[in-house]
Amino acid sequence: MNIVMMGIQGSGKGTQSKLLSRHLDIPHISVGELFRDHINRGTELGKKAEQYVNKGELVPDHIVIDMVLSALGSPDARAGFVLDGFPRNKVQLTAMEESRPAEYAILLELDEQTALRRLAHRLECPKCHIIYGKNIPPRREGICDVCGSPLVQRDDDQEVDAIKRRMNLFHQESKEIIQYYERKGVLKRIDASLSESEVFQQIIRSLGI
Ligand SMILES: [Zn+2]
Repeated sequence: MNIVMMGIQGSGKGTQSKLLSRHLDIPHISVGELFRDHINRGTELGKKAEQYVNKGELVPDHIVIDMVLSALGSPDARAGFVLDGFPRNKVQLTAMEESRPAEYAILLELDEQTALRRLAHRLECPKCHIIYGKNIPPRREGICDVCGSPLVQRDDDQEVDAIKRRMNLFHQESKEIIQYYERKGVLKRIDASLSESEVFQQIIRSLGI
C-alpha cells in the first residue's frame, strides 16, 4: 500500500504515520529523517543536501526527489510505504507519480486554532489569566482548570507567528497536490482534531483495512 500523509504541524502527522507503518508493517519514510540520515552517513546526496541545509536554504527538488525515490525503491518498501513530507510541489508530485504513485493520500485536517493550541508553549485563560505551559498543561486540552474558559495563545509569544508562517506555507504548497489527489480519487480527509486513537481509527476505516 503506497500511502502519502499530509497535514499541518500539530496535526499528528508524524505519530499517525508511525502507527500506520507499524499496523501495516511497511516502512515509515520521513523526508526530514531521510535528510538527517544521508547527512550523517555522508552520502553523495547527503553532502549536496547539507550545503543547502547549513545555509538555511531549501534543498533543490532534484536532490529531494533522488533521496525519496531511492528510499521508495528499496527492497523493504516493496509492499508499500507511509511517506511523510513528500511530495511538496508539482515537480516532486510528477516524479513520484511516474515511479511509485500514491494509492492513498491521507489529509489530516485541523483548523489553525486547534493546531496552535496544541503547539502552544504558553496558553492563557482570558478570564482568570492563569498561564498554562507544556510542563503544567490544563487537565482538559485547551480548557482552563479553574473556570472552564477556552484557553488562548499569549499574543506576545513569537512562536505563534512562526507557526502561522509554516501553516500558510503548507496551505500554499499543498493546494495543488490535494486537488490532484482529490481528482484522482485517492484523497482521504481525516478529522485530526480528535484524539490520537480516534484519528487512527478513522484512517484505518478510510483505507478499508
Ligand atoms: Zn480561567
